[in-house]
Amino acid sequence: MNFLLPLTGSFAQPAAENPTVAMIEAAFAHHGLDWRYLNVEVAPEALGDAVKGARAMGWRGFNCSIPHKVAVIEHLDGLGHSAEIIGAVNTIVRQGERLIGENTDGRGFVAALREVIDPKGKSVVLFGAGGAARAVGVEMALAGAARIVVVNRSARRGQELATLLNDRTPTQAQFALWDQPFAVPQDTDIVIHATSVGLYPDVHAMPAIDTGSLRPHMVVADGIHNPPLTRLLQAAQRQGCRTVDGLGMLVQQGVIGIKYWTGVDVDPEVMRQALLDLHL
Ligand code: NDP
Repeated sequence: MNFLLPLTGSFAQPAAENPTVAMIEAAFAHHGLDWRYLNVEVAPEALGDAVKGARAMGWRGFNCSIPHKVAVIEHLDGLGHSAEIIGAVNTIVRQGERLIGENTDGRGFVAALREVIDPKGKSVVLFGAGGAARAVGVEMALAGAARIVVVNRSARRGQELATLLNDRTPTQAQFALWDQPFAVPQDTDIVIHATSVGLYPDVHAMPAIDTGSLRPHMVVADGIHNPPLTRLLQAAQRQGCRTVDGLGMLVQQGVIGIKYWTGVDVDPEVMRQALLDLHL
């Protein structure tokens, strides 16, 4: 018998409403992985000690969520390629004695999107320029998206993301100020909503998008996972668009994280079902 189990987990504040532990442990159980994932509340001033503790206890890796995704970087030994461009980390992977920061938010998004459409060569409209939008924008660009229009309410963050994409990736990016309902250009292939508008409990909030401009050839994706069927996705479906929900992004970033930690390719359906069973 071996009573010493490999440890992983999450550091965040607040942590109580983060459902990641449920989907990760469902995947561990389904695949017979006798690992543990601990959902831990860590205050910003305790982050350095928490990372030292994870090192001391030999944790195999962990996730960082709000508010640690940028702050954790100074406690790590290196960054993956896209995490370095994005400037934020959500998954830490132990390589020998080194802790390496990766960002799987955007890659999870692209994996979920690929079930419906390949980003390569496509024209994209991306709403938002916060942490999620940066990760999604960079990974869409690295996946070969030809053009990305960043639409954001505050000009500074939006312009910063467009500049980052132009400077560090092969895509052509431009910024559009979001100060009125935005009509999506007709040559757009993929529409991505990556702001926090519509997140529980504000489930009736609707991002200022002229949904009449959505056409059936467009794929519309939402980063909001709770609720999975947002008002935006409902409107897109009425317009005849194919849609991708935020649960897919959440599940796929978990699939990538577990692969990093355990080397096992887990079944995304098991994780999605575990989240749906929570009736968030
Ligand atoms: P940030 O706080 O970093 O960014 C928020 C973004 O939303 C900014 O672009 C902000 O614009 C915009 N925004 C907020 N309120 C409004 C509004 N009323 N009108 C227009 N724009 C608005 O948050 P994150 O990027 O970290 O997270 C955004 C969302 O992404 C979260 O709510 C979460 O649901 C989702 N997410 C989903 C994941 C998944 O796995 N499914 C993973 C990570 C995030 P401005 O710059 O003008 O302030």
